Amino acid sequence: MRVAILTVGDELLAGETENTNATWLAGQVTDRGGVVRRILTVPDDPPTLVDRIRAYHDRFDAVLVTGGLGGTHDDLTVPAVADALDREVVVHEAARAAVERTAAALAEAEPELFEQYDLDFDPDAWASLPAGARHVENPVGLAPGAVVDGVYLLPGVPEEMRGVFGNVAEEFGGDRVSRSVRSPAPEGALAETLAAAGDRFDVAVGSYPSRADREVRVRVSGTDPDAVDAAVDWLAERIDTV
Ligand code: ATP
Ligand code: MG
Repeated sequence: MRVAILTVGDELLAGETENTNATWLAGQVTDRGGVVRRILTVPDDPPTLVDRIRAYHDRFDAVLVTGGLGGTHDDLTVPAVADALDREVVVHEAARAAVERTAAALAEAEPELFEQYDLDFDPDAWASLPAGARHVENPVGLAPGAVVDGVYLLPGVPEEMRGVFGNVAEEFGGDRVSRSVRSPAPEGALAETLAAAGDRFDVAVGSYPSRADREVRVRVSGTDPDAVDAAVDWLAERIDTV
């Protein structure tokens, strides 16, 4: 399964918020055997978002979009996804019920907060989704998750993003496996052997040096577990490992 991850937000591009959502989602997809082929951050700019959703939707099996969901002024993701897939935006009944349930629970949990700030919200705005979308429960917050034609809409708030992804995680899978070995040798001393392993076996070989640990992590991945094992064994006979 080939996946693209699209994170939305000016604050990410300004370097004010670390893009932990992209890293976390990439790990989740990889752990399930899928392959992440793109991670892209776009500004809060609808035309850019529409353009990338369309392109990635055509190219990959699934597109994970985080950020810009919900009913606040900078929430542009739902109309952009609808536009990219040539769909209308409609109020989703199950999502609306969930939004109202969550809002009532939040108001009950923190009545002073609601009163102090006169928290009033428009459930229809929060429950608006691209037509034909499947609603995905948000176990943590208000913004409903959704899936439409392989495009997954996840909230930006990391706890909410993880909660919503947890409800669709089983839809992600694949047969890609990987194994890593660590070597104390400098990367330059390994290059030739790593390239040879890549040529010899049906695997991808990556090397990731860490200055702090004074070691290189060598990652071998592929869709045939026997080939991955054989390549790792072959490498272990030829390079220093720890
Ligand atoms: P809300 O339901 O609150 O409207 P949202 O889905 O619209 O959420 P944003 O408004 O884009 O999400 O972001 C909510 C919060 O989550 C912000 O503090 C934002 O900085 C943070 N956030 C957004 N995207 C990411 C990301 N990729 N990694 C980590 N944090 C993020
Ligand atoms: Mg928002």
